[in-house]
Amino acid sequence: MTAISLREIRKSYGSLQVIHDIDIEIESGEFLVLVGPSGCGKSTLLRMIAGLEEISGGRLEIGGKLVNALPPSQRDIAMVFQDYALYPHMTVLENMAFGLKMRGTNQAVIQQRVAQAADVLRIRPFLNRRPAQLSGGQRQRVAMGRAIVREPSAFLFDEPLSNLDAALRVEMRLEIAKLHNRMKATTVYVTHDQVEAMTLADRIVVLNTGRIEQIGPPLELYHRPASLFVARFIGSPT
Ligand code: ADP
Ligand code: MG
Repeated sequence: MTAISLREIRKSYGSLQVIHDIDIEIESGEFLVLVGPSGCGKSTLLRMIAGLEEISGGRLEIGGKLVNALPPSQRDIAMVFQDYALYPHMTVLENMAFGLKMRGTNQAVIQQRVAQAADVLRIRPFLNRRPAQLSGGQRQRVAMGRAIVREPSAFLFDEPLSNLDAALRVEMRLEIAKLHNRMKATTVYVTHDQVEAMTLADRIVVLNTGRIEQIGPPLELYHRPASLFVARFIGSPT
């Protein structure tokens, strides 16, 4: 079943077109990774799916529903950002509960979902701390917790690990893989890290200046890159 469908998706800033007729059918439960050099349009594409950026042309469907004109709150997705975007004056618990509170979710449900997510992410001991009192990895877990409590059908990640040191990046990558196996939610994950892409992805999309250079499973791209560009990016022997 298709979870997210992009048909001829386009984006222009003024006269500058940065996304050109992108077609992708993202399967329900799939882990799709977007890779490509800086400025190729990864964040723009993800932000359009999230509803944080207006779509200039094409059709975007989430769960079979046309969402081009819908605000983020009316899309069944949650996004995790590179800079975590936590509220500094709120505790971990308040940060995680905030989105649900805004939606008018009942207090008992909020408590139960926060407790569950805190266990999954091993941040229960920190629930009453503020973001400044946490390490980078703990903050990243809170940012993921905030997305999880919404129980969306899809998660969007924009380079979630790029601010972490190398050891923590490996640890968090394994956490994300475990989380995905456990929740089976559709995931669209942007990274410029080949190892992350190769180990996490069901399929990888290689973007080059706003166009799809190749899309396929990691090993297919590795062994049969469609171009030198893909080979370089995936690290295939050339
Ligand atoms: P990536 O995430 O792959 O590094 P982006 O999606 O951030 O790339 O950017 C794609 C292109 O769109 C770049 O050329 C960037 O300069 C341009 N761009 C992004 N946001 C804006 C904006 N708000 N106004 C004008 N140009 C933008
Ligand atoms: Mg980006």
